[in-house]
Amino acid sequence: MKLAWQRTGWIFFFVFLQGSRGMEERGVKTAMFEAEQQWTLKNYNYTKYHTMEDIYKWINMNVAEYPDLASSQFLGMTSENRPIYLLKIGIRTDTPKKAVWMDCGIHAREWIAPAFCQWFVKEILQKHKEDEKLNTMLQNLDFYVTPVLNIDGYIYSWLNSSTRLWRKSRSAPPANCTCFGVDLNRNFDATWGTLGISSDCCSDMYCGTGPNSEPEAKAVTEFLSRRKDQFLCFLTIHSRGQLLLYPYGNPEKKAPNYKELKELGESASKAIKDVHGMVYRVGSPPELLYNNSGSSRDWAKDIGIEFVYTFELRDNGTYGFLLPEEQIQPTCEEVFAGARTIISHAHDKHFPSSAVPSAPALWIAVLAAWISFQTFT
Ligand SMILES: [Zn+2]
Repeated sequence: MKLAWQRTGWIFFFVFLQGSRGMEERGVKTAMFEAEQQWTLKNYNYTKYHTMEDIYKWINMNVAEYPDLASSQFLGMTSENRPIYLLKIGIRTDTPKKAVWMDCGIHAREWIAPAFCQWFVKEILQKHKEDEKLNTMLQNLDFYVTPVLNIDGYIYSWLNSSTRLWRKSRSAPPANCTCFGVDLNRNFDATWGTLGISSDCCSDMYCGTGPNSEPEAKAVTEFLSRRKDQFLCFLTIHSRGQLLLYPYGNPEKKAPNYKELKELGESASKAIKDVHGMVYRVGSPPELLYNNSGSSRDWAKDIGIEFVYTFELRDNGTYGFLLPEEQIQPTCEEVFAGARTIISHAHDKHFPSSAVPSAPALWIAVLAAWISFQTFT
């Protein structure tokens, strides 16, 4: 593998040299003109699905365009040795901050999920100046957004129509089996290997050889474990089915803040419905779907993160994982409203002084100020 990378490196270097000579020959102006023909962050099309190559470039462009707000961080390597990067977004301050986690594309074929992570980043970066609430949240919170977690699987799902519905990672088969890939959302250390899984490596729900056997799951586990006290929210984005799922996949376990998770999920679902009228049901996996184990959601709850949800985006079965591009924008708009409801609640609970007062609270404050003015002057 190392040799292969070295060889690839030399090939790139050679191509670069050839490219440099070409630039001299054609003239730098021509080359610059050609570069301008490619997309930039300003004309990036958020209503199309993008290749991983585009998404890698898009991450770097965000960092270059918003150096005060955005930075990229290395999360780990995939099983096929590709780097996983996340975007950290927040206003830099000296005061301690809390954080929000969002990952997309843990299942390869759910293309609307990476499209949403990109939309989410665009919204918070472009709108935080005019949107006072968003600005306050960026002062108190850092957003850690991983646009594509299962990069190998995502690239594989772009290969051709026969691989389009690939779900798992692309790790090598274990001994005595011939099929590639692990269901990364069954590989986390949360009652691993017990419910809603398969130990057959050819199954779409193969849970791997042990908890965190896969580098992608291990990378998330290590990153969050080091910072677990900082994180208020863990949002993991999937499709399809239009659901907001809170822990646990195990019907015998109940989250300590079950009632709050359910109520907040219902508020988020209402916010979603208010945008385009779509219904997203709210519940735990056993309440709405099936029992499962080894999910990142359940693991995030186990380490003590307060607000933990799986979002299952559109649709309800008409197109399934092949959601048409015309639906990217409306889906992202409604899910942004839902995610914002959850993040705002978490923010206001932990930073009550910066929460925007409700209208009655504001009037009570004005009245109290007037009374005290009357008393002391
Ligand atoms: Zn999924």
